[in-house]
Amino acid sequence: MIVGAGAAGLFAALTAARAGARVTLVSARPLAETASYWAQGGIAAALAVEDSPALHLQDTLTAGRGLVRRSAAEVLCAEAPARFADLETLGVHFDTDRHGNLALGLEGGHGIRRVAHAGGSATGRQILRELSAEVVAQERIEVLAGRRARALLTHGDGRVGAVACDDGRVITARAVILATGGAAALWSRTTNPPGSYGSGLLLARAAGADLADLEFAQFHPTAVVGIPGREGFLVSEAVRGEGATLHDAAGARFVDELAPRDAVARAIHRLLVETGAPAVFLDMTAIDPARFPNVVAALRESGHDPATRRIPVSPASHYVMGGIATDLDGRTTVAGLFAVGECACTGLHGANRLASNSLSECFVFGRRAAQAALDEPAGSSGGGLTAPPADVLALPPSRDTRAAMWRDAGLERTAGGLRRLLADEHPLARLVAASALAREESRGAHARADFPASDPDLDGRHGVVPAGAETPTLIGWT
Ligand SMILES: Cc1cc2nc3c(=O)[nH]c(=O)nc-3n(C[C@H](O)[C@H](O)[C@H](O)COP(=O)(O)OP(=O)(O)OC[C@H]3O[C@@H](n4cnc5c(N)ncnc54)[C@H](O)[C@@H]3O)c2cc1C
Repeated sequence: MIVGAGAAGLFAALTAARAGARVTLVSARPLAETASYWAQGGIAAALAVEDSPALHLQDTLTAGRGLVRRSAAEVLCAEAPARFADLETLGVHFDTDRHGNLALGLEGGHGIRRVAHAGGSATGRQILRELSAEVVAQERIEVLAGRRARALLTHGDGRVGAVACDDGRVITARAVILATGGAAALWSRTTNPPGSYGSGLLLARAAGADLADLEFAQFHPTAVVGIPGREGFLVSEAVRGEGATLHDAAGARFVDELAPRDAVARAIHRLLVETGAPAVFLDMTAIDPARFPNVVAALRESGHDPATRRIPVSPASHYVMGGIATDLDGRTTVAGLFAVGECACTGLHGANRLASNSLSECFVFGRRAAQAALDEPAGSSGGGLTAPPADVLALPPSRDTRAAMWRDAGLERTAGGLRRLLADEHPLARLVAASALAREESRGAHARADFPASDPDLDGRHGVVPAGAETPTLIGWT
């Protein structure tokens, strides 16, 4: 059983079905409302002749600021090229140059052109179109669209054995893979679809799973500000990779546009705080509009032509590095339960995800989890199935919670703000606050105004929140 039909869920479903399993795929929202569908820039893999998994690994480690779980990043970088080839075999046409060679883009933090894209900046849409067509055609996969998983049921021995949906249906399964996406929409200013509020994290926690690294939420530097109908719309990092520049209100450049995301986002944030301005300006007037057709079209639809005018942008919550703690095969700390894609935390992104590593993650770990799930025992000796004591149907955050997250767990945090957030009504908001409070340092996407330096003693130490606890323990992962 797979919960979620983004890149991770669809790919895991196909892998399992092709290996002979019968799969039920439940998805709450239409395809076009997944983060995967919205992905623009592309998928990172060492594909260029002069590139290698070792170079990709080095950039991933550098971006992750001393917190990347090396074993997970090694798996990602080694296996991403093969998963890219799988996508091509499935029929995804990646963009090529005029000589027919793969056109690789450059994004912040990558030392080399390494990002494959499709349809210019419509990579997610193109991939999901092929994957979903394949899933529909696969007779071993039953798709239940428009249904929300509301609880995971466990046997007496703690093994997960079924998923309860919001229509009252209970689906039993040998293994359950959560692929429910991220939680960036917990913050009021976000690039994510509204459904990305971390429901899978709470389902897993209620079933007894550990969560990890919740203090690490990545803020994308360039989301649109003040263009009606396009608030929070993402302007891909690949645009800066092709030469777009950032300017203050007076027209001056103020940051290395190709530094890793945390550095660029924080430079913009600090400038906006200092000056009181609502936005900085992205100049993509020198960029060929044909390279980013959907970005250009979306802005033009709103009456703003990026070929002639600079675009007002500021940071927005974009990606949560933390999630359900897993091993390198997507196994959570609960038997029978797996997690993949953005809802999972393998530790691969450390404190700051390297651009375009997340789609690669969906395919690399989606496949590994599906294969591992096939090895789960068919039954449990633990007796009948029970639901968690409380109904954990994770509700969308209220407007107040989202505003509080932006204010108190935003680009720069303080102990005072985080303590205030500990009293929020939303359980995930409280866990983010507790995790951010416990990490008394600044590292990657987590910046504490009251602890501005990184603490070398916390290198490689992940904040793990066990199911029964409200606060994390900082531990090292191998
Ligand atoms: C605007 C934007 C641009 C991006 N660009 C890139 C990029 O260029 N490259 C890159 O690598 N990454 C990019 N990312 C990040 C990347 O898209 C995501 O990390 C990734 O697609 C997540 O995939 P997923 O399958 O884990 O989750 P999603 O694609 O979010 O899918 C989650 C699925 O779970 C379902 N679901 C959730 N809760 C439940 C529930 N309780 N019951 C049933 N179903 C549920 C949803 O309906 C959905 O089907 C971008 C993200 C955004 C928002």
